[in-house]
Amino acid sequence: DPVLRLAGIEKAYNPGKPNEVHVLRGVDLTVARGEVVALVAPSGAGKSTLLHIAGLLDAPDKGSVEIGGEAMQGRSDRRRTATRRSKVGFVYQFHHLLPEFSALENVMLPQLANGISRRAAKTRAQELLTSVGIAERADHRPAALSGGEQQRVAFCRAMANAPRLLLADEPTGNLDPKTSDRVFDALMALVRETGLSALIATHNLELAARMDRQLKMDQGQLSEL
Ligand code: ADP
Ligand code: ADP
Repeated sequence: DPVLRLAGIEKAYNPGKPNEVHVLRGVDLTVARGEVVALVAPSGAGKSTLLHIAGLLDAPDKGSVEIGGEAMQGRSDRRRTATRRSKVGFVYQFHHLLPEFSALENVMLPQLANGISRRAAKTRAQELLTSVGIAERADHRPAALSGGEQQRVAFCRAMANAPRLLLADEPTGNLDPKTSDRVFDALMALVRETGLSALIATHNLELAARMDRQLKMDQGQLSEL
């Protein structure tokens, strides 16, 4: 089974009202195991909407979402939340780390929420931080880290529960070009090492070119870039 399959996805905001925006108009997308797909689109095209639907944060008006072969339509909220927590990792343009917690704790928290023991969560968090080269920053709070370091911690947090699918919305969009390249390298290394599938929205065509496949979003539909 593919890790993600979207078929016939439709989504409108304010349907039937004068301010209706029909954002997704029949989106079909399959992401195979281990595949890294770039999503390139101008701002306002509907990338975030699509990532939210793929990550079970929002439901489509029409169409089907399958994660790891599991069809999500008609599932309870509880079931969708459980699937999201165990199978999907998110990275955003801004890291959204919790300011009161250390880097290590930020990577432990999603594991604790998923029922993992403190001890096992800590070991995994340390391994992840080591793999992106910031083990020595583990005890710092986000404010004491550079932008690139904060984003690396955010990747580790997204990977904490060993998801099948990584969804990223402009994951390095907030960083200067040089830092963005380095941080993207760290992300790709982590993704490749774990055989993870990813859907990564970016404006950066050079970064997009380094992924396995490039899609663009236009008029609410996806096509090859
Ligand atoms: P992108 O991530 O590509 O910038 P979005 O998916 O955030 O695009 O938004 C696509 C379109 O839908 C935009 O025109 C946006 O203004 C509109 N939109 C997004 N969220 C809402 C909402 N909650 N209510 C109404 N319109 C929305
Ligand atoms: P209904 O037509 O009564 O909404 P569905 O089985 O289509 O019945 O959906 C049941 C619930 O699941 C609804 O809350 C719907 O919004 C949500 N839902 C439907 N399809 C999906 C999907 N692909 N991803 C996430 N949530 C969905």
